[in-house]
Formats: sequence, structure tokens, C-alpha cells
Amino acid sequence: MSNQPATSSPVPLEAKSPYELRTVLSKNIPDNVIKQSLDTGDIGFLHSFTTGSTVDGPGVRVVVWTAGCQFRCLYCHNPDTWSLSNGMPVPLERAVEQLKKYRTGLQRMSGGLTISGGEPLMQHRFVMKLFTAARAMGIHTTIETNGYYGDRLTDQDLEVIDLVMLGIKTWDPERHRHLTRMDVEPTLAFARRLAAQRRKIWIRFVLVPGLTDDLDDIANIARFAGGLGNVERVEVLPFHQLGSFKWERLGLPYTLTAVQPPTPELTERVCGIFRSEGLTAY
Ligand code: SF4
Repeated sequence: MSNQPATSSPVPLEAKSPYELRTVLSKNIPDNVIKQSLDTGDIGFLHSFTTGSTVDGPGVRVVVWTAGCQFRCLYCHNPDTWSLSNGMPVPLERAVEQLKKYRTGLQRMSGGLTISGGEPLMQHRFVMKLFTAARAMGIHTTIETNGYYGDRLTDQDLEVIDLVMLGIKTWDPERHRHLTRMDVEPTLAFARRLAAQRRKIWIRFVLVPGLTDDLDDIANIARFAGGLGNVERVEVLPFHQLGSFKWERLGLPYTLTAVQPPTPELTERVCGIFRSEGLTAY
């Protein structure tokens, strides 16, 4: 069998939104080919490309949604991106060609490329190759990450990333493990490293009533973020139920069915906690 996976697929690379449910697009790819692809970064496993986003970084963005995530956030909107094998195998050249189509428009609209997921750093070599190609085309680069694998990036890699959008889920280590099944410290260590290098970050915080709305916990995140000195803005993202159908369709136990989005008053109060530490928060 060839070492190159078949990449023709009835599923188009572009999706209307990341809320399209996509599964098992790599189910026939042998493990050794997946491993080789991760080692070389010559093939990415992607949920999709979307265009025209105004909420995933500065200006208007093309977003590459990667497959694979080591977190299991209870509120995840895209659990179909947890498994690498749900992603579509996309050779680097094809991803670069796709990006090239948008180059002029992105530059005109002061936008760029955002790589999100899933967790992009599960495929850090592919991500860095795509960012390097984007930079060579004069396209602004942003990564949206939970930061857990930040240590996979060299300082040289960081040079190629214009903006890091870092998700901080909660402060308390126990609560973080309950919420994501993983430790919070690697995320915080990545934030400190970016701060030491004066690299620009936006912090993303998902506000979920009953889960992440402990105001003392939020104050701890705010104090940490305010002390970093490199946080350009904080985005407080109100929880919603748009991805809940995916849990059901994937047969995953979803525990937040009864949870309502936070009130505008609570969201504003949380923004106020971040602002009280000298941060810009929306
Ligand atoms: S880090 Fe993001 S993609 Fe991963 S489980 Fe959490 S919300 Fe979902």
C-alpha cells in the first residue's frame, strides 16, 4: 500500500461553519501513515476550512479547524474534533493552495489565517509548515490553542505566529481536571513563556453558569492575566448550546443539557473582573 493516504473525499474541505458534524474521514488511514504524517507535518488531519470569520482573530479570517484534542471539555462545541481519525487527511500543498485563493482578500480586509481546532498543537509540525507558508505570502497568522502542548513549539516557531489566542478554562487545578480531564499548569506555563518573550496574546474564557462562573476563580485568572503584561485583550465567551447536538449524535454523555447561557449582566460582571486588573475585556 502506498504511504500516501487517499485524499479525495466526497466531503468538501470548506465547511459553512465548524458546527458541521464531521466524522471518520481518516478511518482507513493506517496508523503508521498517521504517525509519519504527524512526524513530518506533510499531511494535516483537518475538520475543515471556513472563511469570513470575524471572531477568530483580527479582521476577517480564514480558519483551519484541525482534528485531535487532548482535552475533553464538558462544554466543548466541537467534540467531533477530539479524534484525529475524524479529520480529513489534507496534504500541506493542498492546504497552501487553498489559502492562496484568499490571500488578496485577507490582506485587503486586514485579516489572516487562524488555525484552531480541536487542538492545533496536536499536529504542531503541520501547523508550523502552514504558518510558514502563510507568512511567506504576507498573511497574518494566529493560533487558537489550549496551550497544553506549548512546549512543542520552539522559540523559532513562535517567531512565525503573530498572535496566540489562549484558552484558559478555569484557575483551580481540581476544577480544571474535572472540566477538561487535564492539568492547567502547562497552559499557564505557556502563557508565562509568551509573556517573557513579549508575544501578543488574547485570552479566551468560556463562561458557563454553574461550571466556570465562580467569581473568585475568575478573579485569579484575571490577576494572572493582568500580571503577564502581554495580554492585548480578553474575550469572555458566553456558553451556548450550538454544539450540543454533536454530543448526542456521537453517543457522548452530555451533562450540560439544562444549562442556560449566562445573562448579559453576568457576562458584563465577569468582563468587569478582568478590566479591574487593567485588561481590555469584551
Ligand atoms: S480544548 Fe477546545 S476542542 Fe478541546 S475539548 Fe476543549 S473546547 Fe473542545
